[in-house]
Amino acid sequence: MAAPAAIRSVAGMTEHPAGSSLAPAGPPQGEAAISVSDLRMHYAEREALTGLSFEVFRGELFALLGPNGAGKTTTVEILEGYRCRTGGQVSVLGADPWLASRSWRARIGVMLQETGPEPDLSVAECLGLYGGYYSHPWPAGDLLELTGLDAQAGLRATQLSGGQRRKLDLALALTGRPQVLFLDEPTTGFDPAARRDAWDTIAALKNTGTTIVLTTHYMEEAERLADRVAVITAGALVSQGPPGSLIARQATPAITFTLPAGLTTEDLPEPARRTVSGPPGRTVTLPAPSPLPMLRILADWADQAGHDLRDLEVRRPTLEDAYLQLTGETDPETAP
Ligand code: ATP
Repeated sequence: MAAPAAIRSVAGMTEHPAGSSLAPAGPPQGEAAISVSDLRMHYAEREALTGLSFEVFRGELFALLGPNGAGKTTTVEILEGYRCRTGGQVSVLGADPWLASRSWRARIGVMLQETGPEPDLSVAECLGLYGGYYSHPWPAGDLLELTGLDAQAGLRATQLSGGQRRKLDLALALTGRPQVLFLDEPTTGFDPAARRDAWDTIAALKNTGTTIVLTTHYMEEAERLADRVAVITAGALVSQGPPGSLIARQATPAITFTLPAGLTTEDLPEPARRTVSGPPGRTVTLPAPSPLPMLRILADWADQAGHDLRDLEVRRPTLEDAYLQLTGETDPETAP
């Protein structure tokens, strides 16, 4: 799906400076493209947002994370101007999205979870049609190349696979060269290779200076792409910051190995015996903020007693670990 040539051509045509690396360049600070203060949303029977406050800086990729029903889509729909909030202040590119003008809308790109592009048009025709709504659209050819849809250019949207439909959704969201791009679960339904290609495309778009708000349930996606993430549960923001900071605040590295046959955790050397965590079983988990001293103790003990520490691993915590702790959800792999 990535097509750096197309992205470079676009970077040269936008007013944003083009970046040179696909990797996140750290959290950019400076002017806020989006400001949200005490945002509230009350549906008929439910308080969906209970007072969110955050900023998204220009050129930043900001990921909104949270369990199903946490309020991510509601937040994004308010930022996009599709939904009227019931309280708080919101500014996107200097305007209140609910009251914003057509020219403001032309500066915003939206990739929704479900879209319905024209069923009777081919992919290329569809891109051409949407391009007609903007004064300086991306050429359909660039968008096809960028999203890896060249081979499907002549197919109708109804003939596309689920993943190909998402690529078309992304291409349509990019048509007007948006300054702020909203991506709502952009890689759902992608096969692993297509997802990695999509990540390259999104990272390259960020490097053109586009401000991107991403919602996703793939923690690896957020960890890889986002400058900063915000975690929402039950309509409240519980943590925000660069992925590395959230991980460091929330989770520690752990040493794991399989307990040698015939031993229990009581047979482990100190301080390993005192620090064992996790469910009882043959797999031992030892939280270890700096793993090396603990590894030495274990290695000496195993050497002297002639034990084999099978499956020995030092596991670096991921954003998923931090997220699961913050949201109180359980990792299905370690759930009893
Ligand atoms: P998901 O990850 O499943 O997409 P989400 O974090 O995007 O979830 P929202 O779709 O924003 O969550 O929903 C937040 C809460 O608001 C949920 O409890 C949902 O049932 C409720 N809600 C969303 N849209 C409406 C609506 N139009 N009318 C009433 N309640 C709604």
